[in-house]
Amino acid sequence: MELACLDLEGVLIPEIWIKFAEKTGIEALKATTRDIPDYDELMTMRLGELAKHKLGLNEIQEVIATLSPMEGAREFIDWLRERFQVVILSDTFYEFAGPLMKQLGYPTLLCHKLTVDDTGRVTDYNIRQANPKRQCIVAFKSLYYRTIAAGDSYNDTTMLAEADAGILFKAPQNVIEQFPQYPAVHTYSDLKREFLKASIRDLAL
Ligand SMILES: [Mg+2]
Repeated sequence: MELACLDLEGVLIPEIWIKFAEKTGIEALKATTRDIPDYDELMTMRLGELAKHKLGLNEIQEVIATLSPMEGAREFIDWLRERFQVVILSDTFYEFAGPLMKQLGYPTLLCHKLTVDDTGRVTDYNIRQANPKRQCIVAFKSLYYRTIAAGDSYNDTTMLAEADAGILFKAPQNVIEQFPQYPAVHTYSDLKREFLKASIRDLAL
């Protein structure tokens, strides 16, 4: 059997922190790992900004609930689920992804978790494991699943490398150039075709 493993942000939904920063007007929250490469430093800054602006989990989820998946994402994932077992492998947090996953029909999601106190304040974050996307593929392979993975960014490339087939979707040009071994597509219809090509089964569009 074949598993389709998808990144979430940049593939099915917009980058949550950037959209959240735009909605709330908190400039500092627009920073990504490109600006602050140390993830701990970045997350500590983000949690500090949330506390400073008195944004607890309820307020955060209210803002995130106003966001939408990318156009065509729901149709794509429904198409994919008819042909593959689909698992979303993401570096987001369950508490953030929740409102958007509802709009995607709650596909299986493996990601990280926040620590929230009784008052709703986000006090900490918990990374599920080191190199989580790649480790999921390693685990699925140990269960004798064939894996086809798609993602848009650097944090997906170890997942693509470990999978039986990897696809870049809406990746920036520098990532496409650095990883020429993967087909790079930019629309859901092309992504569907790449999944069919990568499959060892006789599937139709
Ligand atoms: Mg992404």
